[in-house]
Amino acid sequence: INKIALLTSGGDAPGLNACIRAVVRASIFHNIKVVGIRRGYEGLIDGDFFEMDSATVSNIIQRGGTIQKSSRSPRFKTSDGRESAYQQLKKEGIDAVVLIGGDGSFAGSKAFTSTYNIPWIGIPKTIDNDLTGTDSAIGFDTATNTAMEAIDKIRDTAESHNRIFFVEVMGRDAGFIAYETGINVGAEAICIPETENDVQHLFTVLEKGWGRKKSSLIVVVGEGNEAGGAFKISNDVKEKFPQYDVTVCILGYIQRGGSPSCSDRVLASKLGVAAIHALLNGEKNIMVGEIKGDIVYTPLEIVTKRYLEIDLARIELINILST
Ligand code: ADP
Repeated sequence: INKIALLTSGGDAPGLNACIRAVVRASIFHNIKVVGIRRGYEGLIDGDFFEMDSATVSNIIQRGGTIQKSSRSPRFKTSDGRESAYQQLKKEGIDAVVLIGGDGSFAGSKAFTSTYNIPWIGIPKTIDNDLTGTDSAIGFDTATNTAMEAIDKIRDTAESHNRIFFVEVMGRDAGFIAYETGINVGAEAICIPETENDVQHLFTVLEKGWGRKKSSLIVVVGEGNEAGGAFKISNDVKEKFPQYDVTVCILGYIQRGGSPSCSDRVLASKLGVAAIHALLNGEKNIMVGEIKGDIVYTPLEIVTKRYLEIDLARIELINILST
């Protein structure tokens, strides 16, 4: 392997730049040239390439977003688009591709590698953390920290006004952010997509007369709830308990940006180096992840979406903490 191409694809997440830096530095360390691809699959199809060296990635470990830009590319979903991408890689003399992406991008990687024979290494990033093959994906830790800091501030208002706040967090149809944020802000209740009776449980909490014991109540709502988002659930509550003062806050895109947390910088750095080591070990068409502290390779073929597992320990934890 003499020359690799590196791209970031799909939604941005904090820690992408830290990972780009690690991939570039590890490559240079092992005498491998790195070509950066701008704008994800779109730039790959268009041949929007640039040379990367050690200086290109100086002073970026702490920055949110991605210096390489990212995109969503309808063209890469077509075989014509992927054929153009292959031709661009061949023209540039690329021996392997390293892609930092989420499950959509990996679906694209699968489609590409099932036709074309270029070793391909995936690195998982998604604030939603909804990928198999790694305990945590790059960006998840920062997103939960951002949600935590925001809700700590909301708690001040909730306390001052004896109010119920429904705070909606991201995560799409997976409840990882909502669950962890529910714990780290001391939420009185959470509503996550993986469980069905959260709203019923919330009604029980309110029926028990929380107002007699506590002066504020925070409910963390995952955006992909079947029972509806924070507005819908708050309306249901208001209908049943008109005596309560209810407010909704949607945190939205602040969770996607910002300087990456310590954990995300370390994870991004480890996985970036692991991707190059995997190539040097002769691996191809895998995703590198970290499970229980160990670097693990998972074939791209079997990387899929995952959801928060609701086991007894998790339910007990929530019950104990919301007593
Ligand atoms: P993420 O990687 O963050 O999950 P997306 O779901 O937006 O982001 O996917 C990023 C890109 O991956 C899409 O815009 C598309 O170009 C490509 N992609 C997604 N699914 C497929 C697929 N089934 N076949 C080919 N390319 C795909």
